[in-house]
Amino acid sequence: MADIIPRNVATVPSVEIRQNPRAKRLTLRIDKHHAVPVLTVPKGISMGQIQSFLDKHKGWIADRVAALPEGIRLVPDAAFPFRGAPHIIRHEAGFPREPLACEGEVRLGGPVDHVEPRVLRWLRRCARTRLVERATYHAQSLGVSIGRISVRDTKSRWGSCTATGNLNFSWRLILAPDAILDYVAAHEVAHRVEMNHSPRFWAEVDRLCANRSAARQWLRRHGDGLMRIGPPPGGESAAD
Ligand SMILES: [Zn+2]
Repeated sequence: MADIIPRNVATVPSVEIRQNPRAKRLTLRIDKHHAVPVLTVPKGISMGQIQSFLDKHKGWIADRVAALPEGIRLVPDAAFPFRGAPHIIRHEAGFPREPLACEGEVRLGGPVDHVEPRVLRWLRRCARTRLVERATYHAQSLGVSIGRISVRDTKSRWGSCTATGNLNFSWRLILAPDAILDYVAAHEVAHRVEMNHSPRFWAEVDRLCANRSAARQWLRRHGDGLMRIGPPPGGESAAD
């Protein structure tokens, strides 16, 4: 199909504007979940200033949004990665309601409009099971204790560790290859030894995880794609 509209004009999406009295200056970022630009506006900025700022950056906005991977909804016949391997959602009335990963498919039955929330809940449970398993294993290897493990839809970090040893992870890690989930689990557990990113911290990670630089590179390259799978936050149904 011919593209007769210049790309910069055609692809500039509407910008979400957030007032923040504590902000020091106008800042622009891309919300990767929703694929929308977000402009943070400090006090005392006029509409004219906002407009000229956006005009100046419209090429950047268009390029960044166009570069985002396409969103994938978890609906029947959709293809998405599960533990790093492509899977197709196969919905048939006769299948059990509980999703089952089998031969490159995620099979489930039940009402068709329940498919996405049910697949999401199942993915979160799978993520939690594996993260608990791997974090417990790494904690035993380092001889450290860990607290509660939570699996959430984190926005900016794949995992985090509190001062008291509670670990938080993104459920989306279950979409990545096992070695990637394992690296993030090892990383957060290693913070139980060193609460920083010093050379001593990375030495602990290396004791747990054979190839952390490849894992970090994978996340940099594919992380945005994982953020675009399933309904954007806020669009998720109440089933969760
Ligand atoms: Zn860290």
